[in-house]
Amino acid sequence: MFAIEILSNFTGINNKPAKIPSVALKKAKIMDSLFFKPIQFLWLLLLAAILSSCGSSTSLTTRYAPFHPANNTAVNFTFNTSDNDGIARAELFVYEYELYVNPDNNMRSARQRPGGQWGFVRDWNYDPEPTSANETHNFSAGFAAGSFVRFLVRITDGKGRNKSEDWYFAAGDWPYGNSPIPILGKGAPAKTIDVAFVADRTDYSSGRDMLPDLEGLIFDGYHINNAIRNRRQLWSFYYSPQRGFISDYDSGVLTMDIPSSVSNSSIIDHAAVIHTTVKRDWASGGNFGTEPTNIGTAVHESGHSSFGLADEYNSGNCRTSSDPYHNVYSSRSAAETYNTDHGWPTSDVEEIFSGCFRVEPSSLNCIMLNDGDATMPDFERSCILRTIWYYSELTN
Ligand SMILES: [Zn+2]
Repeated sequence: MFAIEILSNFTGINNKPAKIPSVALKKAKIMDSLFFKPIQFLWLLLLAAILSSCGSSTSLTTRYAPFHPANNTAVNFTFNTSDNDGIARAELFVYEYELYVNPDNNMRSARQRPGGQWGFVRDWNYDPEPTSANETHNFSAGFAAGSFVRFLVRITDGKGRNKSEDWYFAAGDWPYGNSPIPILGKGAPAKTIDVAFVADRTDYSSGRDMLPDLEGLIFDGYHINNAIRNRRQLWSFYYSPQRGFISDYDSGVLTMDIPSSVSNSSIIDHAAVIHTTVKRDWASGGNFGTEPTNIGTAVHESGHSSFGLADEYNSGNCRTSSDPYHNVYSSRSAAETYNTDHGWPTSDVEEIFSGCFRVEPSSLNCIMLNDGDATMPDFERSCILRTIWYYSELTN
């Protein structure tokens, strides 16, 4: 069902309803984060070498499981690829870092683990060359306590072109207390949308207990959305070791408990309380609750929290969406002017309820109109324009 937005408290987890100031804020605080500069620098060097010949016709998605693997627990690395020119070769690389606190500056840092896995793990060579391949490698040794792992899959197609994808994640005992633990990321937090999942204490015995439910929410949820799948490496996901709580909207009591280590984090943009008990969900301060299977609800809510988009359905409140790209206005004339300025018919403007107007028609069925619950609607015309602008600001 639709989640309810509590507009009176719509201030954002870091008090950043507009994105440009928040990006600046995050950049300023980057040194506070786990992602100490040397590791970023190292990644840049690696990526420059590895990604210099990206093919465009190869599709490639990768995943790993389980999330936040325990000490020395086997990890499965999986890829799914297709290419009309055929798949000639696939390679898996794994880089194992150890997390530590640098005594010189007290910074949380990562460095290559002595004796750890560093680079090529295995390859798959195909003859004849299939047009698609789906493989899993079981990395049986796993990783020690305090590990930070980067894995990369590189595909070579039948014409010798390469495409690769890489991710990082934490493995083994987490050395940094209650700080949000990275489960899937790529870039530095200042350049990504950072989402933290919090286990509802009603349904989960620990934060870790929630992790199996997050695999589908991320890989078969966020990653399949039309505004995310080709920008999925601009989204980073974390989970809180501490649990939280969100009440049922219909209970009449609105309580959302987000651990302070999440709400005070300088890198987390918004949080989602994950519950399996069926509740009517709601959002406040950029944070929200959802069942892990309601992938459309989660992305709809992130559409508010990250992109600043407004509801295109009658939620009982009207909030003009954020400048400079809109999907909702509280004035018909402003909505019509917006469409004219962007080459769309003024007749596309529709009244949601008295004094509230969407600029794209309901026939497009944008995810901000209908969140889809356990299905994944697309972001449509006006919303897509907003997401493109947002990503360009984020990566500038
Ligand atoms: Zn909404």
